[in-house]
Amino acid sequence: EAMAGAGGQVVRYDATLERQLSRRATVAADLRRGLAAGEFHLLYQPIVNLPDGRLVGVESLVRWGDISPAGFIPVAEDTGLIVELGAWILDTACAQAAEWRHRHGPDALRSVAVNVSARQLLDPALPEIVAAALARHDLPARQLTIEITETAVFGGGRALASVTALSELGVNIALDDFGTGHSSLGLLRTCPVDAIKVDKSFVDGLGGSPQQEAIAIALTGIAETMGLRTVAEGVETAEQAQRLYELGYRQAQGFHFARPLPAEAIDEMLGAQQNRIAA
Ligand code: C2E
Ligand code: MG
Ligand code: MG
Ligand code: MG
Repeated sequence: EAMAGAGGQVVRYDATLERQLSRRATVAADLRRGLAAGEFHLLYQPIVNLPDGRLVGVESLVRWGDISPAGFIPVAEDTGLIVELGAWILDTACAQAAEWRHRHGPDALRSVAVNVSARQLLDPALPEIVAAALARHDLPARQLTIEITETAVFGGGRALASVTALSELGVNIALDDFGTGHSSLGLLRTCPVDAIKVDKSFVDGLGGSPQQEAIAIALTGIAETMGLRTVAEGVETAEQAQRLYELGYRQAQGFHFARPLPAEAIDEMLGAQQNRIAA
């Protein structure tokens, strides 16, 4: 199944593709082993309130040694291993969110976000897997955000049904990399969405020409009208943060604020934040 879609004839004559496929097969076998051996862990990147830098949420990002998710998530998707890995990610993130609640109070973090891939949305068991993780850790559904991409739900069908079921559980739905897909605005009508994450490419255009800023301006306007939360992704400079604030953005994420961090570092930030309120 790892090589599904690659016609055998083509492989025989294309050395590059052959190398890629054999690398994929190796990665797939290694993934299976790594999952069994407990080699994966999650990092958490802060999502901050722009006016005051306060931590409002985190996005969980999976790590496997020094291989980036871009290197192994696609293989995990193709082989179906993402279903098992994804269930582990959901459970781990819910356990962590519950622990932060326990230590720092029920509303210290508004929500913890988990990325869910297209392949996971096609699994009819996904809503049950999510509900079970929430129940196991006694986490209120509203404190979990599921990040999906536009392309994953573009075709409607099973994927859209999964998102609808998740939304009915009370989980927040965020559209990731918003604005880069095929049907960005149309999806806002058909898919139950709570938040949009405006893609880094639009943030990169800030401070440039009015043409470059136009989409970032339009997106927050649409979101506000529809009652959606907007998060700007990939904010790397103070100038971008300032400009986003001027344009009406209230939440942002990016290296300017913090890199993806181990859970303990988020713990410290939550502790410091509580002290600031108490003082
Ligand atoms: P994403 O969900 O859009 O995650 C944001 C990515 O941008 C992360 O890369 C993050 O480290 C990076 N990033 C954050 N701020 C900045 C910034 O200011 N500048 C730049 N250049 N990059 C920034 P990462 O962790 O390598 O993840 C890449 C993608 O892999 C994610 O994109 C997501 O699509 C996927 N992914 C990561 N973790 C998971 C997971 O647990 N499950 C699934 N299904 N996919 C995941
Ligand atoms: Mg994401
Ligand atoms: Mg994103
Ligand atoms: Mg992205």
